[in-house]
Amino acid sequence: MLHRIATLFALLIGLVAAPLAAQEESPRWALVIHGGAGTLERERMTPERDAEIRAALNAALETGSAVLADGGTAMDAVEATIRVLEDNPNFNAGRGAVFTADGPNSLDASIMDGATRDAGAVAGVSATRHPISLARAVMEQSPHVMMAGYGADEFSHQRGLEQAEPGWFYTEERWEQLQRWLAQRQAGLTPDPDLKYGTVGAVALDMDGNLAAGTSTGGTTGKLFGRVGDSPIIGAGTYADNRACAVSATGAGEYYIREGVAHEICARMRFLGEGPQEAADFVQAETLALGGDGGVIVLGADGRWAYSFNTAGMYRGAVTSEDEASVAIYGDE
Ligand code: ASP
Repeated sequence: MLHRIATLFALLIGLVAAPLAAQEESPRWALVIHGGAGTLERERMTPERDAEIRAALNAALETGSAVLADGGTAMDAVEATIRVLEDNPNFNAGRGAVFTADGPNSLDASIMDGATRDAGAVAGVSATRHPISLARAVMEQSPHVMMAGYGADEFSHQRGLEQAEPGWFYTEERWEQLQRWLAQRQAGLTPDPDLKYGTVGAVALDMDGNLAAGTSTGGTTGKLFGRVGDSPIIGAGTYADNRACAVSATGAGEYYIREGVAHEICARMRFLGEGPQEAADFVQAETLALGGDGGVIVLGADGRWAYSFNTAGMYRGAVTSEDEASVAIYGDE
């Protein structure tokens, strides 16, 4: 009898204590970012580059967390964070984007508001300094979700977004990567997978409990004219829904589109009650089974977040109202 009373008491305490404990642990705001996944191994990285990447990730986290800590929206934090990464030539987005097979840069980006499930995306744009802001302009200033190519560039110009000459996006390193890619293809070799990655993404939770997600990329080195990857596809590379989570993906876009990765992760969390790590690992494994490697960042509506990737490394970082900023590159950290 005594034992039964004690059990009942413990159960009651548990029932009351669990939500309180969860609330206490939940951060008031959170920001998680990635800068692309790939064969990022210590032996292949110079100490200078390692330090540069970590500094760039920290700078992006600092910008986005200042917005959130100040009571700003998740949408503003995601956009501000990605703009910093787009300007940094170390990443395959905005300045430093990879080149298509026949030369120019062709940029893709998307953004989604988890509160309303409004979304905006652009594909194949070439004249806007910050494609993530153009994606947001499509969402907020047009009746559409997605615009592509010439029309999206024209819309950007008409709406007064900051324009950039082709030279702005150019970096010698990316140009050399294209030359290597072309040479490997010419020789009938499988192009080095290192030439592919470096997309950037951010997911955020603000103090009002709203989620947002965004992704920006130059795509894949040597892509064919007109090729569009997963990054601007809502539900594949980017998704946000306050009822579940916010996701940004990076990797072999064709597979991420076929798997519907970002939406699939949120659906598992919403309908199966999985946590961010469990849902992300499951969908990542299924995507890899199709043949696609890469990674995702996931942030739940309760502030729990996860990284999941099946490559050697992923440029990544996180900061919350409770935890200081941390950044990482390799799989073992
Ligand atoms: N997912 C991007 C694409 O396929 C590339 C990447 O994330 O590295 O366009």
